[in-house]
Amino acid sequence: MTHFVIVGGGLAAGKAVERLRKEGFDGDITVLAAEQHPPYQRPPLSKGYLEGKEGTDAVILHPADWYGEQGVELRTGVAATEIDPADHRVALADGSTLRYDKLLIATGSSPRRLPLDGAELSGVRMLRTLDDSDALAAELRGGGRRLVLIGSGWIGMEVAATAKTLGNDVTVLERGAVPLAAAVGAEMGAVFRDLHLAHGVDLRASVEVEGIMGGQRAEGVRVDGDVVPADLVVIGVGAVPNTALAEEAGIAVQNGIVTDASLLADAPDVYAAGDVASAYHPVIEQHLRSEHWDNALKSGAVAAKSMLGIPATHSTIPYFYTDQFDLGMELSGYAPLMKDAQVVTRGDVAAREFIAFWHDGERVVGAMNVNVWDVQDQLKKLIRDAAPFTADALRDESIDLEQLAAAGAPQA
Ligand code: FAD
Repeated sequence: MTHFVIVGGGLAAGKAVERLRKEGFDGDITVLAAEQHPPYQRPPLSKGYLEGKEGTDAVILHPADWYGEQGVELRTGVAATEIDPADHRVALADGSTLRYDKLLIATGSSPRRLPLDGAELSGVRMLRTLDDSDALAAELRGGGRRLVLIGSGWIGMEVAATAKTLGNDVTVLERGAVPLAAAVGAEMGAVFRDLHLAHGVDLRASVEVEGIMGGQRAEGVRVDGDVVPADLVVIGVGAVPNTALAEEAGIAVQNGIVTDASLLADAPDVYAAGDVASAYHPVIEQHLRSEHWDNALKSGAVAAKSMLGIPATHSTIPYFYTDQFDLGMELSGYAPLMKDAQVVTRGDVAAREFIAFWHDGERVVGAMNVNVWDVQDQLKKLIRDAAPFTADALRDESIDLEQLAAAGAPQA
């Protein structure tokens, strides 16, 4: 019997399983998941689940017995420790090995560690897993704690918003001048800064964290010679792809496991999907690694098709969303092209109800809707069609978004 092995128990793995069975694959499937949980999605862990508004049903993709019903062997709490691509074998932490016909590596990413004094004290946390979120929730749900966040990326800012909503004192320490600048640039980062300031978050930018103080438990964070008192510290300074297995197997890795557009890695019958994959994107003609929910969702399915020999390419426009306080946002775009683009807005930025376009001088390469809904299809079309527009046409609200997105829309 043909045997497919999937390493990693996240969203990409879960979606790959779904797709394999939907396409009629009736061979053996084994999922090796290092965590104790069946595949689940992480976005609620810093938002509704952390706040207590959502339960595990909003998180878990399918209950554990669904895998059995699908004839899939889900092995939770079991990590893969080694891959032998030549012999088509995977070694497991329990000492056994599995032979595979096709292998999918969907090992995701892990929080970047900071070599800070005091980072090992209790009360210093990072957020990646369901268990991390449960532990954090236990400390934050009662309110009244002093939470210090080191780093103001998406996860840090979402945790700040949730913790504040739960009635905690929240300080965010950021090395850069504005939060989220690496993701959305300084101008749009300022929108999130103002949002947090308006909700009473103590957001300190352009500061250098020197260490975490405390006896056994964190009591404060030393920053620029000052001490910010803390009951709890969360470090959120980005993530790194879990590529060790691939690297040790001699599979090409460069900021993620390098794959072609079909998600085939540079070893026979080995595929990669989700956060860990750096996939060649046929539209922008470069490799792209995306740490987003939607990427895991779609790339898991593409990898499954490719494993079955069905022609498939992972060529979607990267998509991301966040919810913080009363701000909901969706963003589609090609991060490498957005870096040097001009930001053009339509709508009311001060009221946090607007659309921002990233305009490369001719075309839209990224677009973000903030508290404006049901426009992602049009925004994606603008990006996909790559029709030329002036920045003025994008700004001009008398030109309907539908009109802009429609073929033959007013052009430069
Ligand atoms: P993961 O979800 O990381 O899953 C990989 C799994 O593989 C892990 O369970 C890991 O333990 C396991 N594993 C690793 N190594 C091995 C091994 N050797 N053997 C077996 N198993 C192994 N994205 C958005 O677009 N919007 C959001 O609002 C958003 N919010 C987020 C909030 C949080 C708190 C976090 C952590 C992420 C958020 N993301 C968000 C990002 C999104 O969740 C990730 O892009 C997505 O989880 C990636 O899925 P994945 O399957 O590639 O990897």
